[in-house]
Amino acid sequence: DPRLAHIKESIRTIPGFPKAGILFRDVTTLLLDHKAFKDTTDIFVERYKDMKIDVVVGIEARGFIFGPPIALAIGAKFVPQRKPKKLPGPVVGEEYELEYGTDRIEMHVGAVQPGERCLIVDDLIATGGTLAAGIRLLERVGAEVVECACLIELSDLKGREKLKGKPLFILVDFE
Ligand code: IMP
Repeated sequence: DPRLAHIKESIRTIPGFPKAGILFRDVTTLLLDHKAFKDTTDIFVERYKDMKIDVVVGIEARGFIFGPPIALAIGAKFVPQRKPKKLPGPVVGEEYELEYGTDRIEMHVGAVQPGERCLIVDDLIATGGTLAAGIRLLERVGAEVVECACLIELSDLKGREKLKGKPLFILVDFE
């Protein structure tokens, strides 16, 4: 796809954030570039518009930027999966492993119904732990995860192998 080179160039890399040794891929610069932002949304919409997706699930925080325009364009609802203690109503949660310790994501009870077809959206997959937890959470409420979509894959980390065979669609690979 000829649009992808420009999308990749619009993503800024910041060494040493949030800690030494990390190359942080920053999508906020993509958002400053109307063509790159529009092309990104368009590519996802072209892929998902006829896949009978009921729910676009966005993972905090950058899944909240890219998920809603896709949901609006394909006629799906949008559901946020959030860090603990952010959602005001009753929640279901799922823990996942970090390098040191664990983290957790939560979703409102009833936001996703059994049998609904879900697309999970985030900006980036690294180890895959976050997306894997998102998948487990949706499957626990009886929903079907059709695919995960990220702008960026850090493919050396092999996070895709954690997704229990769920398809992962990405736009840009940073090895
Ligand atoms: P994982 O669980 O190891 O796959 O990490 C993915 C999560 O961490 C996503 O929610 C990303 O937004 C965030 N993340 C990890 N590394 C980066 C980065 O370089 N840029 C932006 N987000 C990152």
